[in-house]
Amino acid sequence: MNPSLISVLPDLSLIPPTFLYIILGVLGAIIGSFLNVVIHRLPLEESIVFPNSRCPSCGAAIAFFDNVPLVSYLMLRGQCRACKKGISARYPAVELLTGLLFINVGWHDGLTPALPFDLIFVSALIALIFIDAEHMILPNAITYPGIAFALIARLAIPYLMGRPYFDDLEGLTMGMFSELPLWAASLLGALIGALIGGGSLWLMGWTWEKLRGIEAMGLGDVKMMFMVGAYLGWRLTILTIFLGVLSGSVIGVFLMWRQGKKNMQMLLPFGVFLGIGSIVALLVGAHIVEWYAGQFR
Ligand SMILES: [Zn+2]
Repeated sequence: MNPSLISVLPDLSLIPPTFLYIILGVLGAIIGSFLNVVIHRLPLEESIVFPNSRCPSCGAAIAFFDNVPLVSYLMLRGQCRACKKGISARYPAVELLTGLLFINVGWHDGLTPALPFDLIFVSALIALIFIDAEHMILPNAITYPGIAFALIARLAIPYLMGRPYFDDLEGLTMGMFSELPLWAASLLGALIGALIGGGSLWLMGWTWEKLRGIEAMGLGDVKMMFMVGAYLGWRLTILTIFLGVLSGSVIGVFLMWRQGKKNMQMLLPFGVFLGIGSIVALLVGAHIVEWYAGQFR
């Protein structure tokens, strides 16, 4: 941050971390409540803004005091006030998960200009994970704006942070682009990340299709990984795909074993595993990459 800006802003480092985590936890639960609406309505192609929340069972409007994240679910003991039908445990789960992840992102970023960008990125991934788990789709309404957002973030964050935030371009090109201005290097890093992310997913789907003659992957995964690749850069994107394939295979084999199926025809919502991999890569990926590189020194 440039010095003139620092003198205007109050000294944010004086805010105690515990206070920051409480704020982020509450904010996360509120955003999680909004994500529940997105997760429920987007696949049905309903408006996200209107009408107000209704009970999916009886259609009764949900009053504001019954719509407090986490608290209302506990107060109502997981039942609709009007029809007493059970409310899906997904609602409090998404609110709790988003709250916890926001705290983790705050712990990872501190009060830096990167924080709001990472919170948006994680929110988009939570919506994608839960929609893919339920409907096996990754809606364009999230992935397309997500790609645009990733490019904007990749351009803006280095200037706001006052240093190259994504440092993985140098290593890849061996300093070939070290003369480039910050914005161009940033954008180039985003494009390489996007091509590696989206490209490898596309290649995996194409190969599988050629081998088995069945469509293995929707283009939703490819678009999602364009977004993730542009945002995380090539190193963390490769880690994301590795984590996604590894966890997806383990769960896939476990499910086949439990269901007694012999073939690999079963479709898994791969976006779920890629989404989880992306969040892990964002939060602890730098440490994993560091540790891995250390094995060869
Ligand atoms: Zn109801």
